[in-house]
Amino acid sequence: MKKISLLGATGSIGWQTYDILKEQRNDFQLVAFSSGKNIEKTREMIETLKPELVSVQLEEDARTLAREYPQIQFSFGEKGLVEVATHPDSTVLVNAVLGSVGLESTLAAIRMGKTVAIANKETLVTAGHLVMAEAKKYNAIILPVDSEHSAIFQSMNGENPKNVERLIITASGGSFRDKSRSELKHVTVADALNHPNWSMGAKITIDSATMMNKGLEVIEAHVLFDMPYDKIDVLLHRESIIHSLVEYHDTSVIAQLGTPDMRVPIQYALSYPDRMPLHNGQRLNLAQIGQLHFQEMDFERYPALRLAYEAGRTGGTILTAMNAANEAAVAAFLQGKITFLEIDETIERVMQAHNNILVPDLQTILQVDGETRKTVLDMVK
Ligand code: NDP
Ligand code: MG
Repeated sequence: MKKISLLGATGSIGWQTYDILKEQRNDFQLVAFSSGKNIEKTREMIETLKPELVSVQLEEDARTLAREYPQIQFSFGEKGLVEVATHPDSTVLVNAVLGSVGLESTLAAIRMGKTVAIANKETLVTAGHLVMAEAKKYNAIILPVDSEHSAIFQSMNGENPKNVERLIITASGGSFRDKSRSELKHVTVADALNHPNWSMGAKITIDSATMMNKGLEVIEAHVLFDMPYDKIDVLLHRESIIHSLVEYHDTSVIAQLGTPDMRVPIQYALSYPDRMPLHNGQRLNLAQIGQLHFQEMDFERYPALRLAYEAGRTGGTILTAMNAANEAAVAAFLQGKITFLEIDETIERVMQAHNNILVPDLQTILQVDGETRKTVLDMVK
């Protein structure tokens, strides 16, 4: 029986994790979880899986729930995230919280030697060097949940990383893949939230439309697989059937395929190194699909991807600034304060003005993160 802590339980990844935990109660036990403001879903998960500790975003919600469920311990805010991540009984942390707010709890779990199944890519982008150094120091295993990184991880099983020629990350192209940049001037929030292949949280759906999601994933791959940026490529593949590929020196290419279902990489991270049947999983029928399509990535069409490669190659706090600017700009777009095209324009302005610190410590990262969010708030006023 693996004992699990889960951050971001009420979100898209968190709720799909819940779906797996519900079905596989003989193998997994949820001991602690965090949610944000969705108290209805929080109640449902409490009643179904009966954890020992639950943390919510707001203190008043924690108080209300504590009255309803006196046998359960409640916490709130960022300290609550750390308490869930470091619950003494759990050996695995699934981090599916949104944004760099997940950084400190990830580090805390690593320092206890827990295995971290990480969906929370912003943490790896903003402080990848710290996360990986701590994981090495405390012998903590980091397992990817992001579908592309899970595909790369699976395609490298049993291989010597030294023999890798390049990683090829596939991209669906997002909601606007058939539009030119000039056609994006007046697109709405509803248009942007309409992803063709995946149903995900709002922020990552916008990131997919700007292609910043792929940019974050390139950095995530660099961090997780210790691969130089020159050896990480992005390939447009509209069907999202091939989840990513690894090319080796001998020209062999190994890929992982499957119907687009995030429960596959989530469950693999939970069951690793084993595999389990996927409840209601849809098997891949290639004959029915017939054709798969591939196309080279256009960096002019997707400036956010160019910016992410630039930040990655530079390294240091520019990664934190880029990530925080993106989080703040996407939030502003979702609130109707800026247009779609202003998202990457905002990020570029922040990056151009940034005074880079090459090897930042945690304090510096948190400071740059906070300052950048403030700068963007002033810019969008
Ligand atoms: P969602 O927005 O759907 O969910 C985010 C979760 O985090 C919710 O439980 C939310 O709570 C909680 N949350 C948000 N802000 C805070 C906060 N300040 N404090 C505490 N809790 C908070 O996001 P996704 O599930 O889409 O994405 C989660 C992570 O996984 C992201 O890093 C994303 O990039 C990554 N990812 C997602 C994929 C997907 O298919 N969705 C695929 C690959 C990676 P509540 O809703 O209760 O307010
Ligand atoms: Mg992905």
